[in-house]
Amino acid sequence: MRVFKFGGASVKDAKAVKNVTKVLQKTGFSNLVVIASAMGKTTNALEKVVELYVEKNPKLKNSIEDIYTYHREILNELFENKEHPIFKKIIGLFLDLETTLDRNKSKQYDFIYDQVVSYGEIISTTIISEYLNHQGYENEWLDARDFIKTDNAYRDAEVHWEITLQRIKNKVNKNTLSVTQGFIGSDQNNFTTTLGREGSDYTAGIFAYCLGADSVSIWKDVPGVLNGDPRVFKNTQLLSHVSYEEAIELAFYGASVIHPKTIQPLQRKEIPLYVKSFVNPSGKGTSVKKGQPLDPYLPCYIVKKNQILLSLSSLDFSFIVEDNISEIFNLFHQYHIKVDLIQNSAISFSVCLDDRFDHFDELLTKLKSRFRVTYNKEVSLYTVRHFTNEAIASLEKNRDILLKQITRETYQMVVKD
Ligand code: ADP
Ligand code: ASP
Ligand code: MG
Repeated sequence: MRVFKFGGASVKDAKAVKNVTKVLQKTGFSNLVVIASAMGKTTNALEKVVELYVEKNPKLKNSIEDIYTYHREILNELFENKEHPIFKKIIGLFLDLETTLDRNKSKQYDFIYDQVVSYGEIISTTIISEYLNHQGYENEWLDARDFIKTDNAYRDAEVHWEITLQRIKNKVNKNTLSVTQGFIGSDQNNFTTTLGREGSDYTAGIFAYCLGADSVSIWKDVPGVLNGDPRVFKNTQLLSHVSYEEAIELAFYGASVIHPKTIQPLQRKEIPLYVKSFVNPSGKGTSVKKGQPLDPYLPCYIVKKNQILLSLSSLDFSFIVEDNISEIFNLFHQYHIKVDLIQNSAISFSVCLDDRFDHFDELLTKLKSRFRVTYNKEVSLYTVRHFTNEAIASLEKNRDILLKQITRETYQMVVKD
């Protein structure tokens, strides 16, 4: 059996949803679990809803209405018969969303975030599932929250594997077509949790692992994994094969085409992952499986924008040693700030940080009481795996480099944007 994942771009409008059917017509409708993200940029729009709600901004109602209108237009194009029950179903989900906000008593931002933002996936999969039924492709809509059980670290939940495995193994029909949501799960008290932005790929990895699937395919707006993000780098080339280890490295350094947590569960059961184009489903795409690191063997370019370069030295110019470093890392952990690169000298300690949840300013106050602090916001971290001298030379040209670091296979530099 197979697991397919369709991301936001692949279901961004009615034409795209129709294209999902076309892809499935080519690949078959049975022995399949389809995992879908929220449509287009809906998650960003719902993040805005949470912000407006928390700040009690009167624009809240409008922001929800805009999201409704966007989905309503998609429905209008997909279903000619305006009496079709899907119209009422979607209105019902938007009413539920409003009720959730009205009744909420929690002040915890991340909790509210997950209860709200998850509607994006619930709404999109409801539409996709109904559309497939309408086209004659009978399928079962599954609520991923009944299957993916997590802790209650809202916005970045950890999967509880044992119970998730039992639920998926026992309750998902391997022979038919199921449609479910990426990105979301639920905690012990059945409150909704999310697995981190872009986490739908990870959901595909979880379902595939638990079902012992034969393969996972993620359908993208690119021909497969390229040796750089085509939106950033020129003349990128398709990698036809990438090993699990190499894919983990590329995703870890920020190649956003695959969510970093996706690969490990697949590697454990040696389930191949195919990254393919939803525009050209017969294209070769990329296979991620056991074997050579890369084919063709090329330098791979990755950029992470909007990073922070932070340098610390002690107030008395003493050395930054292990106990300072462990204190600093504890703080990063506490504030959910991700460390992407570390460089240490006798009296100064530098890190490139990804402040995903906007906690840096709070952290800064803490650090300033203990260290001499300098930092640059909005820097970019470039990584080249399997670098060549030419690759580095062309990347460094005309750049204001703040820091660089080279190890055997990996070149990294932090630059001002
Ligand atoms: P999804 O619709 O599944 O959420 P994403 O937008 O997250 O898809 O991922 C696809 C995008 O990833 C591409 O449009 C491309 O700009 C970007 N990308 C970044 N790095 C790479 C890479 N190495 N190869 C291909 N695409 C990449
Ligand atoms: N919809 C979520 C996001 O945009 C999850 C995903 O698309 O993978 O982050
Ligand atoms: Mg995405």
